[in-house]
Parts: sequence; C-alpha cells; structure tokens
Amino acid sequence: MGEKTKIAVNPAIQVGGSLFSLEQLAKISTVVGSDAKIEMTTFKQLYVEVPIDRRDAIKKELELTGLEVYATGFVTKSLIACNFCKGAEEAGLDTARILNQAIAGIETPAPLKIGYAGCALGTSEPLLKDIGVVKMRNTFDIYVGGEPKGLKTSIAKLLLSGLTEEQLVPVIITIIDFYKEYAKGKEKFSKFINRMTLDQLKHITG
Ligand code: SF4
Repeated sequence: MGEKTKIAVNPAIQVGGSLFSLEQLAKISTVVGSDAKIEMTTFKQLYVEVPIDRRDAIKKELELTGLEVYATGFVTKSLIACNFCKGAEEAGLDTARILNQAIAGIETPAPLKIGYAGCALGTSEPLLKDIGVVKMRNTFDIYVGGEPKGLKTSIAKLLLSGLTEEQLVPVIITIIDFYKEYAKGKEKFSKFINRMTLDQLKHITG
C-alpha cells in the first residue's frame, strides 16, 4: 500500500451552515475508497486519508462538486462560520466567504481557528476561537485569544470594534503575520496573545 496523507474537506460557507450534499458525500466515498479513514473534526472539517500520489487529483475531483479542500496540521483552518439564519445579506455571507478565501490554509506556528458570527448571538461560538469575528449591524468586531481546550480555558477578548468590511481581511492578515513572526516555536495563539498583550496587538492593527 502506498504512503497516505490527510486532506481537510468541507462544504462552501452557506446559509444553513456546513451542509454536505448527498452527491458530495457519495463523491468522497467514491474517490477515497471504502477503506479510507475519515474523521469529523471539532472545527467543521472532515479529515480524509488519501494516497499521497493521488492527493492533487482527488482534490480536483472533490472541488468539482463544490467541496473545498485544504491542508491539515499547522495552518489556519477554514473559517468556522455560523448558519447565517438571519439571511445572507444581513449576516454577511459574502464577507465570510471573502475572509475564508483569505485565511484558510495559511501556515501558522500552531493550528489557528477563526470563527465568524453574523450577529451578536454568536451561535458559532466566536469567543471560543483564536480569532473571533462578530458582525454588528454594518460593522465588525474582532476578538482574540479564545481557548476552549484543556483546564486553562479562556474567552476571547475584544480587540477592535466598528471595522468596515474592507478593513476586516487586512486586519486579520496583519494579526496572523504578527503571530507568525513573533511566536516562540509552536506557541499556541492564545498563549501568544497573553504574552504580547492586547495593547501591542491594537498598536499593530490600529
Ligand atoms: S450568529 Fe446570528 S446570524 Fe449566525 S446563525 Fe447565530 S443567530 Fe443566526
């Protein structure tokens, strides 16, 4: 048997949340085979084991059905978005998609999770993510440093509020770049934020 690797697979961000169609699930089953290991992660991606030499071909086939395929491991995960129950426009579906395109798969010192909520109800739990984006009417608030795992859990703290849609991607990319540049080894983002302080982060994003 050839060497295997894992790919991260998820449906496109859409109203209704992470909905796989039957066609997409059937395609996954067809292209990876019945003995492949498939794992459901806590961050709305399926980790699918595939032969290394067929990785790119499988990625292409899955993408043809509308699925998105990303790297696993020490990268920014695809955006963990809410279900957009208030409607695509009011909850900012387009903004979430643009943000996802900009951030998913960036190599980072430790896996990085970014959450998005289309309103202050925050049903996707953005304050438990490394970076949380919350749409507040026509602007966006950014929270940083959420840590839901282990015994030292923490709620993300408000970093910036009142951002326009145009400001959102550049600010988040700046935060990721800052983390990449100054993290110590494989330092987790929440630890990094505690070490760096919010003031320093406000300074580089302001
Ligand atoms: S965060 Fe708001 S818009 Fe998104 S699913 Fe929850 S209630 Fe609906």
